[in-house]
Amino acid sequence: MHITADKLVDTLSDRGYRITNARRAVCEVVAAAHDEHLSAADIYDRARAKSGTRLDRSTVYRTLEALEASGLLAHSHMGHGPSVYHLAEDAGHQHLICRRCGTTTTLPREESENLAAAIRVATGFVADLNHFALSGLCADCASGNTI
Ligand SMILES: [Zn+2]
Ligand SMILES: [Zn+2]
Ligand SMILES: [Zn+2]
Repeated sequence: MHITADKLVDTLSDRGYRITNARRAVCEVVAAAHDEHLSAADIYDRARAKSGTRLDRSTVYRTLEALEASGLLAHSHMGHGPSVYHLAEDAGHQHLICRRCGTTTTLPREESENLAAAIRVATGFVADLNHFALSGLCADCASGNTI
């Protein structure tokens, strides 16, 4: 069962937010973006295109914050670039960013959890691994296959 735009809208409504076209458009963009890595600016652009009206950028950002506060959305930091958003159901994978070519590789949630478990066993530290991307070399760059 995927989180739907209606579910996001209902959650905002339950938290006391008035449901404007802008907020609804943000919810629709977020609910439709499963395997993408959208920044707040990307979400703003899509929501503006979808609603067909002028949108206040701060409204879009506050809506994202409200969805995060409700636990339905999570952000991840991607190296030097902007943070990206995932629905909670899509989060949990580790981002691996190549320092040479900039490619993002994802480590699936299960592997990511194994890595976190290894850190916990060794140190007792409970890591929020997927909050920040790991930097390194992608398989191609590491094997010298690219220029
Ligand atoms: Zn991701
Ligand atoms: Zn953060
Ligand atoms: Zn690379």
